[in-house]
Amino acid sequence: MKDSISFSCSVCSREYPIETRNFRCECGGTFKLKRPLKSLPISSLKEREKSIWRYRETLPIEDDKNIVSLGEGFTPLLSFSYKNFEKISIKLDYVCPTGSFKDRGSTVLISKLKELGVKSCVVDSSGNAGSSIAAYSTRAGIECQVYCPAGTSEGKLVQIRAYGARLVKVPGTRLDTAMAVQEATKEHYYASPNWNPFFVEGVKTMAYEICEQLGWNIPDTILCPTGYGGVYIGLYYGFKELLEQGIINQIPRLIGIQSEAISPIYQSFSRKAKEVEEVPSVVTLAEGIGCVRPIKGKEILEIAQSTDGCFEIVSEKEIIEGWKELNRQGIYIEPTSAVVVKAIDRLANRGILNQREKIVLILTGSGLKATEKLGKYVVLN
Ligand SMILES: [Zn+2]
Repeated sequence: MKDSISFSCSVCSREYPIETRNFRCECGGTFKLKRPLKSLPISSLKEREKSIWRYRETLPIEDDKNIVSLGEGFTPLLSFSYKNFEKISIKLDYVCPTGSFKDRGSTVLISKLKELGVKSCVVDSSGNAGSSIAAYSTRAGIECQVYCPAGTSEGKLVQIRAYGARLVKVPGTRLDTAMAVQEATKEHYYASPNWNPFFVEGVKTMAYEICEQLGWNIPDTILCPTGYGGVYIGLYYGFKELLEQGIINQIPRLIGIQSEAISPIYQSFSRKAKEVEEVPSVVTLAEGIGCVRPIKGKEILEIAQSTDGCFEIVSEKEIIEGWKELNRQGIYIEPTSAVVVKAIDRLANRGILNQREKIVLILTGSGLKATEKLGKYVVLN
């Protein structure tokens, strides 16, 4: 029997069939996926493949034959030594097939598009999501167009083209790119990591994995880079499902880290606002989270409020300091991911983190894609 599954508007609750080509409700609200929660048989997971598809029951694809996978997920969780903090782990989520965590979302979204018989899709991206959607699309035989800001790291642009996607470079900011793609969504399926509910269904597996890697326990606190908030929301959805299944008894505290240059969520949360207000666009090293108008801002603020979470910012200088700290422990990531390191100091100074709690830092994107921007920070030996 088929699952009863639909989209529901997060603002007015109107329901849409999942076959809809609308990427949002007519009232402008974002869609959420409505489907019954299936419980995960955790005792039988050991024999399963080491990818996100080991959590098969929780992923909304009807027929296994539609799964488009590159073996994504089950990324390493390692210890990280930092000052006097006793229990910090790093989740190397850039160790995914296209070099970023986005593959978790892409494998589910593109599998669903295959299941729905979609022939062509379009996506706007700061680079990582674009290359990820391009990779899974070509594997599925779906045509793909990617819109990126013209200033995106060359490594990401080359990768998108290498997968055979059509690349459209848009002058201006990330927001200009988001506006430019709208016209193309009339003709092609909008495979947006930020709007499409199937994408976050994949990202939520990060929570299942962290929990499994800790012996079905949770850390006290998780720090993740936050722009549109995909990781932040994905972690929340995953832990919420684990809680509802009785596998855990609490959701860890989720702390979103933004670049000081572009920090609309941090600012709105600090003001205790109910909605996130748009901020001016400026250049930041953390290009992957350079989001001035997060469309799910209200939901992100609500998640933080209901789970004792919060937000922090770091300066451009701190991004590079954090990046170097990771380099010294064998980790080469893009600057976007490096925001989490120095945020630890700021949070400790605010009395929010202590040295004995169990902390996980999420590292989202590979440094290999941003080498031309990072070269100047490496001192020649
Ligand atoms: Zn609505």
